[in-house]
Amino acid sequence: MNVVVQKYGGTSVADVDRIKKVARRVKLAVDSGYGVLVVVSARAGVTNQLIERAKAIQKNPSERELDMLMTCGEQETIALLCMALHTIKVPAISRTGWQAGIQTEGLHAKSRIREVTGGDLRKQLRAGNVVVVAGFQGVNDKGDVTTFGRGGSDLSAIALAGTLRAKGCQIFTDVEGVYTADPRIVPDARKISEISYEEMLELASSGSKVMQTRAVEFAQKHNIPFEVRSSFSKKSGTMVKKKVKSLEDMLVSGVATDKNQVRISVTELPDRPGAAAAVFKVMAEAGVVVDMIIQNVGRQGLANLSFTVPSEDAFRAEKALKEHFADGNGGKLGKSTNIVKVSVVGVGMRSHSGVAATFFDALANEGINMLMISTSEIKISVAVEPKSGDEATRVAHQAFGLGK
Ligand code: ASP
Ligand code: MG
Repeated sequence: MNVVVQKYGGTSVADVDRIKKVARRVKLAVDSGYGVLVVVSARAGVTNQLIERAKAIQKNPSERELDMLMTCGEQETIALLCMALHTIKVPAISRTGWQAGIQTEGLHAKSRIREVTGGDLRKQLRAGNVVVVAGFQGVNDKGDVTTFGRGGSDLSAIALAGTLRAKGCQIFTDVEGVYTADPRIVPDARKISEISYEEMLELASSGSKVMQTRAVEFAQKHNIPFEVRSSFSKKSGTMVKKKVKSLEDMLVSGVATDKNQVRISVTELPDRPGAAAAVFKVMAEAGVVVDMIIQNVGRQGLANLSFTVPSEDAFRAEKALKEHFADGNGGKLGKSTNIVKVSVVGVGMRSHSGVAATFFDALANEGINMLMISTSEIKISVAVEPKSGDEATRVAHQAFGLGK
């Protein structure tokens, strides 16, 4: 039997009307002869409401109980969707993550998938049932319910597609796919028809958040191709897979804009081996992900160091650094500023030179000042002032001919 996995996110199942719509969409796949496994998120906003309620009782609730609470959101949706399917005469049965044999390890709220046995999913599918599985959840060795981090239903869908060797895995969301740039910033941005896992990951880590990053990493590791598409339209979306032939001669496949970045500055850092290492060790211990780094030439034995961190980590980073410097370690915390990170991403960069020159030239022609630069094999990122972020994105998009 050919199985397809369809995952519907929170906005796609936001209310009863949308759940009924999803049921009709699922029926289309059933009518085409597929065995259909559906993974759903909690209705939009529900997970946040549950967390708020917990925090109204206790500031730092037990992570075990918080996971137990959060999984309720998805469980509401599986039951409601099954009922909606029953009303249109589609046999359907709901399954929680643990009923589907999703076994996890690691910490609550960010557990990893150890194994997916599938429980009786295959049997149910063969019996002609649509199986609706609660995303975002599994069960650990102790028998405790755990969750996969925010947006984790994507991971459930990818993992189940892998286990069932599904013919297709469709991630239905509220956008039509992955775009060459954020269409709200670049009006002529195009939907990308095919993209590789690694490009998708670089775009995601650079601010184009269409899917949970961990889910894409899992798909890459186990080579599980999937499609990102809209539940509100019939148009095909973006295929994410291993190698994308048509992009071979394409230098850049997309431009990502990340507006949630803060630049942290350290001044008067002793210009000697180990001083910078100590700073980044402090960051690592505080669980802060550091991205771009600049250290400039030391003068009179002192140097300046700046680096970027995600906005949500900035406070934690500053606090840890303040303590580090107060302990008599050389260096002073300077003023932090918001920056926007604009990144061009493409596997074509590997084999072509001149991408940086084109990118920087285009920015220079518009008088946009680059504050920091960082690169990986398939990505070049620059930090610019917040007021130039949108313009820099448009300029890069145009410079690489990505528009319509
Ligand atoms: N309901 C969870 C969240 O809001 C998981 C998901 O939507 O994928 O993060
Ligand atoms: Mg999501």
